[in-house]
Amino acid sequence: MPLTQPDGSDWPRGTMARPGEALRREKVLPNIEGLYAGSKPEVTALILSHAHLDHYGLAHYVHNDIPVFGSRGTLAMLRASKLFVPDAVIPENLRELPTSEAKSLAAFSVQGIPVDHAAPDSRALLVEADGQRLLYSGDLRAHGRQPQLFKDLPAAAGPIDVLILEGTTVGQAQGSHGFTNEIDVEHRLAELLKANGSGLAVVIASGQNIDRAISVYQAALATGRELVIDPYQAYVLMMLKDIRPDAPQFNSPSVRVKFVSNHVAKLKAAGLWSLACKMSRAGKVSAEQLAANPGGFVFLARSSGATVALIRYLARTTQPIIVWSQWRDYLNRNGPVPKYCKEQGIEPLVIHSGGHAHPEDLADLAERLHPGMVVPIHTEAAAQFARFIPNVRVVADGETLNIGEP
Ligand SMILES: [Zn+2]
Repeated sequence: MPLTQPDGSDWPRGTMARPGEALRREKVLPNIEGLYAGSKPEVTALILSHAHLDHYGLAHYVHNDIPVFGSRGTLAMLRASKLFVPDAVIPENLRELPTSEAKSLAAFSVQGIPVDHAAPDSRALLVEADGQRLLYSGDLRAHGRQPQLFKDLPAAAGPIDVLILEGTTVGQAQGSHGFTNEIDVEHRLAELLKANGSGLAVVIASGQNIDRAISVYQAALATGRELVIDPYQAYVLMMLKDIRPDAPQFNSPSVRVKFVSNHVAKLKAAGLWSLACKMSRAGKVSAEQLAANPGGFVFLARSSGATVALIRYLARTTQPIIVWSQWRDYLNRNGPVPKYCKEQGIEPLVIHSGGHAHPEDLADLAERLHPGMVVPIHTEAAAQFARFIPNVRVVADGETLNIGEP
């Protein structure tokens, strides 16, 4: 699903529930025969690299007979979104992509290779057929909490004929994707919490950015504060417990849960009432308790109406510090917290590091993989790739590329 409409504005609510035919006519859905519901299925499988909306948001239009594969973490995030996010629709025919071996799918063999990205358990995809080996990078970076995955990718992939390489940061101003790395984010947050010892900090981030949850937790621990999360965040972290054992859980030391009524209703509707009770017993914290000791906490939250309501309540005694810990450009889209900040004349502090590799890291990766051909994808500056990567071949949407032909 494209992140925005062609004119740059947000998709209207309900877009993901519109008829697939209309979305195909408007070229929002790519025109691929035999892929969608309502036609005879002629595609073996759809494979998701990770659980970001621009990589799966319209996957539920795929014919139900066509399996949709993703890593265990990807499937867990899709299911968590379905539980908590209004309007989220996910494919029905979900299957797990094995972690360490290749999966045979008709004439293809597909192997998911773990990469570091802002979505948990992301994969690059190694596809083999007719003696050709193609690696799709997925979205990836060298500067998250698992830099080893970036270093190890060439060894895990082996020799490559064609590399399909993401390039989100190519052609963008240096620093537009935030601080250099995730550890830097953790340190900046700790400095901020230390410098504002008596103030409550509200950090706005994606609930599925596990690296960020760890950074905020570490910054809280380093400054003697407790981390406050909401039931949605607690649920996501719990679902990834064995994939990311370093991530905080609702029953970890110095972690508290601030209940939001619609989250509780959603847990209850999903038959998870006992989990809500467990969260409550482990570390429930009330708005009154936050207001009474603002310097004792850091609240990791989402840009939601519930968060704004809590900030308004706390601001009656002391104005919380608001940290925007996601892509700076999202501040310009009128979410509840940016709207509140504008209305109050507050400039949120941006402390973030992006999910996408810096151009110099992409060049390093391409050099180590040394494929015969590099095809840019997920970029607004495909033409600039050739300035720092050899053997680039720019391919337009819908253009067919034959590989392995003399
Ligand atoms: Zn992504």
